[in-house]
Amino acid sequence: MIIADGCIVAIDYTLKAEDGSLIDTSEGDEALLYLHGSGQIVPGLEAALLGKAVGDKLSVTVQPDDGYGPRRNDRVLTVPRSSLPEGETPEVGMQLEAVGRRGEHIVLWVTEVGEEEVTLDGNHPLAGQTLFFDVEVKSVREATEEERTHGHAHGPDGHHHH
Ligand code: ZN
Repeated sequence: MIIADGCIVAIDYTLKAEDGSLIDTSEGDEALLYLHGSGQIVPGLEAALLGKAVGDKLSVTVQPDDGYGPRRNDRVLTVPRSSLPEGETPEVGMQLEAVGRRGEHIVLWVTEVGEEEVTLDGNHPLAGQTLFFDVEVKSVREATEEERTHGHAHGPDGHHHH
């Protein structure tokens, strides 16, 4: 079976930055399971996996536009600490969720914490970066009816409850 839209795919992967440093890997962990064609992985990697089969190994270079997008300075903002949700103690690296003007979901990363102000960055930490993936396809199967409805993978046998 080859990878196409609507397949549940398991991959082992290693993600490195341009300087060769390790960003993320599935090594020592379970393979990453995703529903192909649903945008759960970055577009450049998803496109490269299309038509591949179990056992295929590939090295994929993903440009920012096909990854986490370009870095935009207008997505960085400084806000007074008091404007943060009640009971939140901001720390660098923390993620906050906000709702945008059009009702869209936005994730903001705390990048700086001052006494009065906090700097929030709406760019994904990997925005603007070229990504280097080494991937091995571990399994490919049809999505179950339930997975199709939910729009995500449910575990190796498709019966994960959540
Ligand atoms: Zn589900």
